[in-house]
Amino acid sequence: MDEDRAPDRRGGTNTLSARPRCAVAIVGGGLAGLALADELERAGIDWHLFEARERWGGRMQSLTVDGAAFDLGPSWFWSIQPRMRALAERLGCPVFEQYAMGDLLYEDDQATVHRDRGFASMAGSLRVDGGVKSLTDALAAELPASRLHPATPVRGVDRERGLLLADGRNWPAEHFVLALPPRIAASLTFNPELSPAQTRGLKGVPTWMAGHAKFVAVYATPFWRDEGLSGDAMSHSGPLVEIHDASPLSGRPGALFGFYGVPAEIRRDHPEALAEATMAQIERLFGPAARDTRHTCLQDWAFEPETASPDDRAPPTSHPEYGPLPAFSSAWDGRLLPGGSETARTFGGYMEGALERSAELAVHLSG
Ligand SMILES: Cc1cc2nc3c(=O)[nH]c(=O)nc-3n(C[C@H](O)[C@H](O)[C@H](O)COP(=O)(O)OP(=O)(O)OC[C@H]3O[C@@H](n4cnc5c(N)ncnc54)[C@H](O)[C@@H]3O)c2cc1C
Repeated sequence: MDEDRAPDRRGGTNTLSARPRCAVAIVGGGLAGLALADELERAGIDWHLFEARERWGGRMQSLTVDGAAFDLGPSWFWSIQPRMRALAERLGCPVFEQYAMGDLLYEDDQATVHRDRGFASMAGSLRVDGGVKSLTDALAAELPASRLHPATPVRGVDRERGLLLADGRNWPAEHFVLALPPRIAASLTFNPELSPAQTRGLKGVPTWMAGHAKFVAVYATPFWRDEGLSGDAMSHSGPLVEIHDASPLSGRPGALFGFYGVPAEIRRDHPEALAEATMAQIERLFGPAARDTRHTCLQDWAFEPETASPDDRAPPTSHPEYGPLPAFSSAWDGRLLPGGSETARTFGGYMEGALERSAELAVHLSG
């Protein structure tokens, strides 16, 4: 048992600070942090959540055009992921299947377009109408505002003084949960310092999809469907390597989204050439109507400091093996707990993993 453990986790006082020590201080208001706060709230545990950005959701972010939301980060979950389905149901967020009717387009390395009958690469994947950000917005709206601290970056964790906030305050707590990508957690200061194995452990975990950029084009209607196209396209010419229909359940307005195959530094250094090459490509694939956009948006996650470290700019080529970090199994006598999707055992890296890890931490912290 720590000599500095609070006598009562619902509000014992820390002799080093006038502020009562809370039971759990959560760093990061993405899906993992919000889901953990939600579970702790239900268990009657005293928690506070600190988020660097002004908005909730982390990698779950949407663009809103004409009242419809388009995912700029994650879009899909799958039927083998029960927590996401249950959360959407509980929060009243409608779920529907990715549009997958019609032919797929394929562009070879000479930019010649081929049409492939009846194959849809993401058929059966599930989407949230209103965008996945409606889940994190709804979770945040249900939680007591007095415990939520948006636009409050954490710059470090001090075992005695608590979270060290960028505004100079400190927030004592019995447990500290790092509900953020491990590589971003590695950029915080720790007192006492982390061991080399702990630092290596955090830095060695690639942040899933953090090196990617997503392009969204919104149209009055999903005109490609009228031509028997699913909206799916694969390309060996680029700059987009993979395109899908991103329209809402109603199909109005229509939208396409694509992932880039261009390295992050080139995306950053040549935005105008990239924008023109992108529009030229979707016109090659979907015809002249593809130029008639209502709105376009390029969300580059590789340069968001709350999501991606410089090491994330070259993304892994396959899904990494994620899980709890062994070097933290009893860090600070069990008071310092890595969280976030990348520390989940089964669905690490995915939204489901954020829910999985937070459920595991909630059981641990309520025990
Ligand atoms: C382009 C893209 C596509 C994806 N596609 C899919 C998909 O289709 N399906 C799927 O399941 N998953 C997908 N993912 C992954 C999915 O987004 C993540 O699994 C999930 O959002 C992780 O949630 P999290 O809460 O663990 O982390 P995050 O969402 O990264 O949340 C961490 C939070 O910590 C905050 N933070 C960072 N630093 C600080 C600090 N110093 N102080 C306070 N707060 C801080 C951040 O602002 C952020 O809000 C995709 C991701 C991207 C980027």
